[in-house]
Amino acid sequence: MTTATPTDARKPATAPAWTPQDSAEMYRIGAWSGGYFRVNERGQVEATPSGAAGPKIDLHEVVRGLSARGIDTPVLLRFSGILDHRLRSLRQAFENSIKENSYKGDYLAVYPIKVNQQRQVVDEVRDYGHRLGFGLEVGSKPELLAVLAMTVETPNQPIVCNGFKDARYIEAVILATKLGRRIIPVVENVRELRLIIHFAEKHKVRPTIGVRVKLASGGSGRWADSVGVKSKFGLTISELLEAVSTLRRHDLLDGLKLLHCHSGSQLQDIAQVKRCITELAHVFVQLKREGAGLTMIDIGGGLAVDYQGSQTNRPSSMNYSLDEYASDVVYRIGSVCDAAGVEHPTIVTECGRAMVAHSSVLVFDVLGSTGPSELVDHNLIDSPGKDEEPQPIRDLRAAIATAAKPNGRLVECFHDAERAREEALTLFSLGYLDLNERAMAEKLFWTICSLVQQACLKLDEVPESLAGIHDLMSENYFCNFSLFQSLPDTWAIDQLFPIMPIHRLGVEPTERAVLADITCDSDGKIDEFIGSQGNPEKTMPVHRLDNDPYYLGVFLVGAYQETLGDLHNLFGDAHAVHIDVENDQWVIGEVVKGDSIREVLSYVQYEPDALSRHLEKECEKAVRAGSMSVQESRILINFYDKGLNGYTYLDPDAELS
Ligand code: PLP
Repeated sequence: MTTATPTDARKPATAPAWTPQDSAEMYRIGAWSGGYFRVNERGQVEATPSGAAGPKIDLHEVVRGLSARGIDTPVLLRFSGILDHRLRSLRQAFENSIKENSYKGDYLAVYPIKVNQQRQVVDEVRDYGHRLGFGLEVGSKPELLAVLAMTVETPNQPIVCNGFKDARYIEAVILATKLGRRIIPVVENVRELRLIIHFAEKHKVRPTIGVRVKLASGGSGRWADSVGVKSKFGLTISELLEAVSTLRRHDLLDGLKLLHCHSGSQLQDIAQVKRCITELAHVFVQLKREGAGLTMIDIGGGLAVDYQGSQTNRPSSMNYSLDEYASDVVYRIGSVCDAAGVEHPTIVTECGRAMVAHSSVLVFDVLGSTGPSELVDHNLIDSPGKDEEPQPIRDLRAAIATAAKPNGRLVECFHDAERAREEALTLFSLGYLDLNERAMAEKLFWTICSLVQQACLKLDEVPESLAGIHDLMSENYFCNFSLFQSLPDTWAIDQLFPIMPIHRLGVEPTERAVLADITCDSDGKIDEFIGSQGNPEKTMPVHRLDNDPYYLGVFLVGAYQETLGDLHNLFGDAHAVHIDVENDQWVIGEVVKGDSIREVLSYVQYEPDALSRHLEKECEKAVRAGSMSVQESRILINFYDKGLNGYTYLDPDAELS
C-alpha cells in the first residue's frame, strides 16, 4: 500500500491552505457540470438540479445515507430534477431562437429511448416531456412495445418509429393510429414503404408517414458513417423521388409529413451540424414542391455533451452551446424555407444524450492501491551498500546520492537511474544478479524517481524529459465497479467522462492514479482523464487512502452506459437510486436494486438452486470422509447461499471471524 511522501516537502512553507475552491478548479467542475454540480464549503460535491439558487444535494451525504440503508456502492444516482431541467432547457433554447428568428413553426423533441431505456428513466422523460409537448422515439420492436404501453395515459404524445421494421411491426403501428396515437413510421428502405401502403389500405387508415434521407453532407468524428450513400439507414435521393411517386399513385402523398435525417451522435463540431441541416432543409423544400404534405423536419440526434469541458471539437467535447445549436437549426431551416416560399415546419429533434447524460452519476469506493510508492524507501539515501555490489547497483547508489542533494542534477540523475535499472534487468536475465540484488535495484530506482518527482514539484518549469514523472509515479487505485458494466463507452470508444472524488475536497489531492476496476481483465481500467488543464491526461489527482471509505464519482453517465453495459466476469447491474427533493431535503425516490449473483447466474442459464444443492452434497461427502467438520461445511454452504442472494460487487466491510 502507499508510502507517505510528506506533502509539506512539496510546497513552500508559506503556501496558502488548500480550499474546496482549489479542488473545484483542479477537477474543472465548472467546465463540465452544466451548472448541475459544484463543490460546497464542506469540500463535498453537491448536485444543484435547478441551478445554484435551488436545492442542494450533498452526494457524500446521499451515499452514506444509502449505505446506512444497506444500499452499498457501486451505486448509480439518478437526479430526477436534473432530467426535468435538461428537458426544460432544451424547450427554452428552441423557444428563444424561434422568437429571435421570427420562426413561424413549432418545436418538438422526441426522446430516443435507446439512449437509456430503463423504465424509471423513460417514465420520467415521458412525464416531464408530456408537460412540454415532447414525445418518444423508438428504434426496434421491443422499444415500440414498451412505448405503446407506456403512453396509454398520454395517447397524444408523438411517437416516432425509426429503425428496421417488419410487416407485423408496421401493421401494429398502423393499428395504433386507430387508438388515436400520434405515431409516425419513418421509412428506412423501399420495402417498408410498400408495407406501410399495404397495411394502410388493408385497415383503411391514412397514416402519418416519415421518411429518412441519406444526406451527402459527410460526417466527421466517431459516427461519420451515419450519413452518406453508404449509411445503413434511409433512402437515397433517387429512392426518395420514387417513394414520392409511389405515394402519389396511392393517394397518400399528403400523409408524408416528416422528413428525417440523423447525422451521428455526439456531433462535436457545429460546422457539421450546419452542413447537414442546410442540406436537409433543401431536400425538404424540394419535396414540398413535389406535393408532399410535409409539416415536420426531423434533424435526428447528435446534440453533444461536453464531457471534457474543453469547448473544443474533440470527440468527448463540443465547440458550441445548446443556445448556439438551437439558433443555428432554427435560422438555417427558416432561411431555406423563406427563400423557397415554403411554410416553416415543426422542427423535431431526437437528441437523447443531451437530455439524459447529466442526470446520472456513478459512485464507487476505492478498495486499495498499489504502485511504485510501495518500493520507495528513503532510508536507502544514506545507506552505503555492501562491498562489491554489481555495477548497476553502484550506479543507482551514486544517482540516489545526487538526487537527494538540494539542486541535484535531476535530468542526469533520472537518465542514469533509467540506464542502470535496464542494465540490472539484463544482468538478472543472464543470471548475474540474484533476487535480492534485483529487488535492491528496483527499490533504488523508484526512490530516485520519487526524489526527482518531489524536486520537480518545486520547479517553475519542469524539464521536458521529466514531464512524465508524475504519471510514472502514479498509483493503481482499485475501484469497486466494472468498467464493462457501468462505463462501457470508456472501453469501447475511448469516451472520456469527468471523474472526481465526491468528498475530502478541502484537502489537496497529492497522489496521481489510474483507476483499475475489479474485473479480471487488464482492459478494465481508466487511464485517460479529462485533465486539469483542458487536455486529456493519463492519470488523475486523488487523495492518499486512509482507513475511511474513499468515494469517486463518474459524472454525466446517464446516456448509453446502462444498456450497453455487459456482464463481463458476471458483474451485474449496479444499484440505481432516484434522488428527488422535497421541502429542500433530498429524498430517496425509486430504488432499483442491482443484480444479485443469483440473477446474473440465471442470465447465463445456470440454476442457482441446483448449484447450491450440488455443493451441499459435496460438503456432506467431505464431512463423512472426515476432511471437513460439520461446522466448516455450514460456513461454506452459508457463504454460498448468502452469496447467491448478495450483490455481485465486493463488500469492503465484510468482517473476519
Ligand atoms: N435518432 C437516431 C435515429 C439515432 O440513431 C440516434 C442515436 O444514434 C439518436 C436519435 C440519438 O442520438 P443522440 O442521443 O446521440 O443525440
